Amino acid sequence: MAKKQFKAESKRLLEMMINSIYTQKEIFLRELISNASDAIDKIYYKALTDDQLVFNKESYYIKVAADQANRTLTITDTGIGMTKEDLENNLGIIAKSGSFAFKNENEIKDGHNIIGQFGVGFYSAFMVADVVTVISKALGSDEAFKWESKDSDGYTIVPCEKETVGTEIILRIKENTEDEQYDEYLEPYRLRAIIKKYSDFIRYPIKMDVKEQKLKEGSENEFEEHQEEQTLNSMVPIWRKSKNELTTEDYNNFYFEKRYGFDQPIKHLHINADGAVIYNAILFIPENTPFDYYTKEYEKGLELYSNGVLIMDKCSDLLPDYFSFVKGMVDSEDLSLNISRELLQHDRQLKLIAKNIKNKIKSQLQSILKDEREKYEQFYKSFGRGLKFGVYNDYGVNKDDLQDLLLFYSSKEKKLVSLDEYVSRMPEDQKYIYYASGESIERIEKLPQIELVSDKGYEMLYFTDDIDEFAIKVIAKYKEKEFKSVSSGDLGIESDASDNKADTEESESKDLFEQMSTILAGKVSSVKASKRLKSHPVCLSAEGEVTIEMEKILKAMPNSQDVKADKVLEININHEVYQSLKAAYLNDKEKLNLYTNLLYTQALLIEGLPIQDPVEFTNDICKIMV
Ligand code: ADP
Ligand code: MG
Repeated sequence: MAKKQFKAESKRLLEMMINSIYTQKEIFLRELISNASDAIDKIYYKALTDDQLVFNKESYYIKVAADQANRTLTITDTGIGMTKEDLENNLGIIAKSGSFAFKNENEIKDGHNIIGQFGVGFYSAFMVADVVTVISKALGSDEAFKWESKDSDGYTIVPCEKETVGTEIILRIKENTEDEQYDEYLEPYRLRAIIKKYSDFIRYPIKMDVKEQKLKEGSENEFEEHQEEQTLNSMVPIWRKSKNELTTEDYNNFYFEKRYGFDQPIKHLHINADGAVIYNAILFIPENTPFDYYTKEYEKGLELYSNGVLIMDKCSDLLPDYFSFVKGMVDSEDLSLNISRELLQHDRQLKLIAKNIKNKIKSQLQSILKDEREKYEQFYKSFGRGLKFGVYNDYGVNKDDLQDLLLFYSSKEKKLVSLDEYVSRMPEDQKYIYYASGESIERIEKLPQIELVSDKGYEMLYFTDDIDEFAIKVIAKYKEKEFKSVSSGDLGIESDASDNKADTEESESKDLFEQMSTILAGKVSSVKASKRLKSHPVCLSAEGEVTIEMEKILKAMPNSQDVKADKVLEININHEVYQSLKAAYLNDKEKLNLYTNLLYTQALLIEGLPIQDPVEFTNDICKIMV
């Protein structure tokens, strides 16, 4: 049985296709310029095998010209041109790509530059034009032809005159409508911006005649209009240049031109990967936190190019959240694009690139930490919090990647130190990595709880960021060493004389402490003789998973759960206050009540926890004054 071809209402089909695959009208220019560039590339490839043909780069260009009076926009190229058959096949058959066929026929494996592949880009012209005219003369041919389509409703082809080889595409731009300002596609400044955005790295010059007001010769205030042909694109993408050719200034200029940020990046990374995936990338680590960085509005992502043509502004799949501060771009030939060339299918190549990039950023940060400490600290000030969130999020799956990038303030060094530095200088008898949490370094330094660890001469990490303790809980152990809060129950410090004293006193004063626990019922789980206090009379510590600092943070969160630390009131038995407590216990129950509540409230104040009844507290103080 003879096979029949589907018939289609081509006008409808075209309209449907054009309007469903492209979300932005401005990309028509990207598509037409890409085609022009492909056409020039084809001459270049032909010249590689044809001795008769010399490819003299200077004579190839693309030109864009707007004529506002006639509402036309013309894109001219000096490329390979099209024969009558080519016009018929490539522009007359939807989804037929002459460029794709060319790549196959000529066995161009590197595919380096030819962009076309789907055979639909050309029709995007109908998004902005109601008449599209193509005048073309093919390489090696004497005759030229004119292809024309009105309202995408069929087309005509007739012979015409054209002197030089190449193609001219004339769009008659639609009239403005209520929703759409088509006029803008006739404005030179707008055209320039679109070209810069999508086609800046097309390898051939994209030219336009630009009118400018210039001072009249010999005059100081008289202007005259001056027309000049300008090249709008930078042509050679900086990422395809060799690293040795480029200076930090070149990279910084690129960062600025691209508006990645207004600061000076602290580091750039130039990657030319040609392993399992081939891609080029230029990445930047900014110096300053963008103003919206810690808000929902901030969008992470890298620019994604395919063969030098911008495909996506912010490809978020290329960066993990914890490296969302990284700016820059990736260019790859290996991507499988979907038909609109705007979106990517969930692409294996993209995943590989993302993984590759992640590792490169990580090792870059590690080497800055190692070799340029000051720079790293500057970076950490801006983005360290994000790294700590990265450790904490997703149940810590990324902690191994990130823990070596963390810094915390050290009680001994009086500056930021890494976990590795901390652990490497731990004395042999020190079991844990100690940390103390609080609002600020100054406040932590005054905490009674740090006395024992500090007397012992051990280094402590000070946690002043609300995420710190949560991140550390997720890490749990670094190089086999567990983390320990200075206010946790067992500090793992070898018991000495005062410890034993505390134990004996504890049993002797069992009744006193029990009595005090009863007074504070519901507020603390027990009252104990402290093994960590040296000079302060009292402090709170926590038993169990939730520390006091965590309780504070959780309480401050919106819709907070009422999570409470299991608090213990610790009394310093070497302090005079302890004697007063004992005396009160024996002689004056009322006084014991008063003292207990006062000590408890003081401990809350030291911790920075809210006190339930400040008036009662001041009244209590007055009671002991009279
Ligand atoms: P694609 O570029 O994906 O192949 P298009 O719809 O953009 O699809 O173009 C269809 C075909 O028309 C191209 O493959 C090419 O063969 C031909 N073509 C389009 N524009 C030009 C041009 N300026 N010069 C030569 N050939 C062109
Ligand atoms: Mg195309």
